[in-house]
Amino acid sequence: MRSILIVGAGQAGLHLALGLLQNGYDVTVVSNRTPEQLRDGRVMSSQAMFGKALAHERELGLDRWADDCPPIEGIQLAVPGPDGGKVIDWAARLDTPARSVDQRVKMPAWMDEVERLGGKIVIHDATAADLEEYATRYDLVLVAAGKGEIASLFERDAVRSPYTAPQRALALTYVNGLTPRPEHSAVCFNLIPGIGEYFVFPALTVTGPCEIMVFEGVPGGPMDCWADARTPAEHLATSLRILKTFLPWEAERCAGVELTDDLGTLAGRFAPVVRRPVATLPSGAAVLGVADVVVLNDPITGQGSNNAAKCAASYLASILARGDGPFDAAWMEQTFETYWATARHATAWTNALLAPPPPHVLEIMGAAGAIPEVAHRFVNGFDDPADFDHWFMDPAKAHAYLARAGA
Ligand SMILES: Cc1cc2nc3c(=O)[nH]c(=O)nc-3n(C[C@H](O)[C@H](O)[C@H](O)COP(=O)(O)OP(=O)(O)OC[C@H]3O[C@@H](n4cnc5c(N)ncnc54)[C@H](O)[C@@H]3O)c2cc1C
Repeated sequence: MRSILIVGAGQAGLHLALGLLQNGYDVTVVSNRTPEQLRDGRVMSSQAMFGKALAHERELGLDRWADDCPPIEGIQLAVPGPDGGKVIDWAARLDTPARSVDQRVKMPAWMDEVERLGGKIVIHDATAADLEEYATRYDLVLVAAGKGEIASLFERDAVRSPYTAPQRALALTYVNGLTPRPEHSAVCFNLIPGIGEYFVFPALTVTGPCEIMVFEGVPGGPMDCWADARTPAEHLATSLRILKTFLPWEAERCAGVELTDDLGTLAGRFAPVVRRPVATLPSGAAVLGVADVVVLNDPITGQGSNNAAKCAASYLASILARGDGPFDAAWMEQTFETYWATARHATAWTNALLAPPPPHVLEIMGAAGAIPEVAHRFVNGFDDPADFDHWFMDPAKAHAYLARAGA
């Protein structure tokens, strides 16, 4: 039986571990947190996942929360104007509902499942020296440690990484009591030009259904303001102050909100980066990076957990196809490039949305308010960002598409 070790019990590491266990591999997962620490810890993400990523989970029987987690049925876009009203306001339905299951709920359950299927969970904060030792004992070592320090063993790929600094100050606020949208449920995405973005959507957390507020502030601007929020109550107050100042229609929905729990808040920032997929250890042994370790995008487009699921599915297929062949550096490079062929679209689109919108993007946003087909295509691109290559990412293609759509 081939033996595989995965560092990191997150969205990608556990998905891949469970897929390998179901296919008869000997799997060990090294996690720096116990299931209890994850369940009782701080929120880590807003983790909204769209149809294709959820389908990968469902293929392995891992999508256990479909009945309990409120569906996200569409996406709404609003842009405030100078007078405090909205200059853009439209919504469209997703062809397949999205869902967000708090990682504090999902990861402990998946860790239990790893053990139920005969896999081993080792609680340890893995170091570079540990990787050397793992590489002598296992046929393949994968590093799925997310934003963990150990990811720095993988060299930054400057050609694929346009940014060297964080592009947004990030914050999460998990709440109960938010007034639902009157029509179908949605990610309500608000774009405040020059200031940042705010989006909010239904989810399932440790206390049951909730709404997750996500703040993306341009660094140094008025939404980059979390340093003084030292308590959960101050964090909630800062969240509400931002909404009252920039998005009064969103503030109105919050008259009765309260935090889901004292650990339902997060603030931080990181630079988006693509890294080389293979780290060569001093001994010459090679280890392969997974998901956020190698493709780390800003959460502005909500693609990270989706990419993690797609990466796990892609790597699983490559490992199964390898049979008894060696998991050497050349195979690792090829395995990553197969995944990157999909992931590059999400990265290019996400990086584009971090920059001020070019004229053709403003035209698309405006046209979507008048032409439902344009809104529908944009919204469903969150599930399949490869489609943006055919129209959104290029001014000439965008104009041709808008003309065909009747703009
Ligand atoms: C504010 C915010 C909002 C987000 N919102 C969304 C969203 O709406 N939709 C979406 O798709 N994505 C979103 N994301 C991104 C998403 O959460 C990540 O991309 C996804 O979790 C990555 O999965 P992963 O398996 O690569 O890493 P993670 O899920 O981060 O898992 C890595 C695991 O490895 C562990 N670890 C780290 N170092 C070590 C070590 N040395 N030894 C052992 N274990 C280690 C960590 O503790 C962690 O448990 C968001 C991220 C942030 C920060």
